[in-house]
Amino acid sequence: MQLKTLDDIDLSGKRVLVRVDLNVPMEDGKITDTTRIKRILPTITELSDKGAKVILLAHFGRPKGKVEPTMSLAPVVSTLAIMLDRPVAFGTDCVGPMAEAAVSALSDGEIVLLENTRFHPGEESKDEDFTKALAANGDIFVNDAFSAAHRAHASTEGLAHLLPSCAGRTMQAELEALEAGLGSPDRPVIAIVGGAKVSTKLDLLHNLVRKVDALVIGGGMANTFLAAQGVDVGKSLCEHDLADTARKIAAEAESAGCEILLPSDGVVATEFKANAEHKTVPINEIPGDSMVLDVGPDTIGRVEDWIKKARTLVWNGPFGAFEIEPFDHATVTVAKFAAMQTNAGNLVSVAGGGDTVAALNHAGVANDFTYVSTAGGAFLEWMEGKVLPGVAVLQSK
Ligand code: AMP
Repeated sequence: MQLKTLDDIDLSGKRVLVRVDLNVPMEDGKITDTTRIKRILPTITELSDKGAKVILLAHFGRPKGKVEPTMSLAPVVSTLAIMLDRPVAFGTDCVGPMAEAAVSALSDGEIVLLENTRFHPGEESKDEDFTKALAANGDIFVNDAFSAAHRAHASTEGLAHLLPSCAGRTMQAELEALEAGLGSPDRPVIAIVGGAKVSTKLDLLHNLVRKVDALVIGGGMANTFLAAQGVDVGKSLCEHDLADTARKIAAEAESAGCEILLPSDGVVATEFKANAEHKTVPINEIPGDSMVLDVGPDTIGRVEDWIKKARTLVWNGPFGAFEIEPFDHATVTVAKFAAMQTNAGNLVSVAGGGDTVAALNHAGVANDFTYVSTAGGAFLEWMEGKVLPGVAVLQSK
């Protein structure tokens, strides 16, 4: 992959439009988690240090093309300025006279955040006039929002057609990590896919069986695969109508030489609640009144043996109902094992998707993986093998 980066463009004195991810969790006007802000600091600092006029573009929430005061980016400015340790101005619109005034007030190295791009319907429809109005305030476009790169919106894709463009440092780091995970990985590669349902991860499974050497299927979705093989899964979460699909994926894996690892034992309970009475049973002995809420020790051992052989691990989705103890056990145990192998230099580990980040944080190992992507939809589309429009447009022709 030939990606244009900040190293390829002269930035000094230029008006640089930077698409960032500021879609931070907020309660009563206060930011509750600054992870996303932390990630964009290197690009903003580098641009400012190189003497660019830094103009930040971002969306916040889903205002559906209308000005929605509760979705203003104004409350983000002070936190951003504190974290950057330099002043940040605010423009009350991302296009038109207010944006122009905010941008023309900038000296080299100064930073302005413009208001929510999604206050305009032209953002999501990639309207030509709206994209031109955004481009009017910049000489260069830098995209540092991988998490929005699966959308072909005006500020995530359209601008790259109108201005010289490149990836920011965060986007670059994310793409390099993903390339090491599935693009041109060290083999053998093992993928772990867990979570609730097969139906939400069909494209992902079809893609992975062609790319990895072993695919571990855990979580509720394993029940669908087990049931398709004739296993009685009792009251477990199971999409019985997807039995044919599960068999088809298993057949695709076999012809691609990908080993599928399904649970050989499970932790079962009669109720879905924390500390419910539970026991471990072989997978062929799930009681009719019970549901599998986690995989058992035999399965954990088989997965760890495979991780020991592997050079690369790609992970999305928990092994069990990790939000309720003790059904977080397999997810936490395998996550710690993968972290240990990563720290020992034996494994490149890439993980992502909403619940996976929460699960790795819960296990206390999110910082020990090679890369943990906080981009939900974009990460999943990448695992599905899809071309992300916001990335494709930054690749040098
Ligand atoms: P996903 O968003 O598809 O990655 O699914 C994550 C959800 O799957 C979490 O909320 C888990 O509680 C749930 N989950 C994982 N394993 C099971 C299981 N065996 N039974 C029911 N829910 C599960």
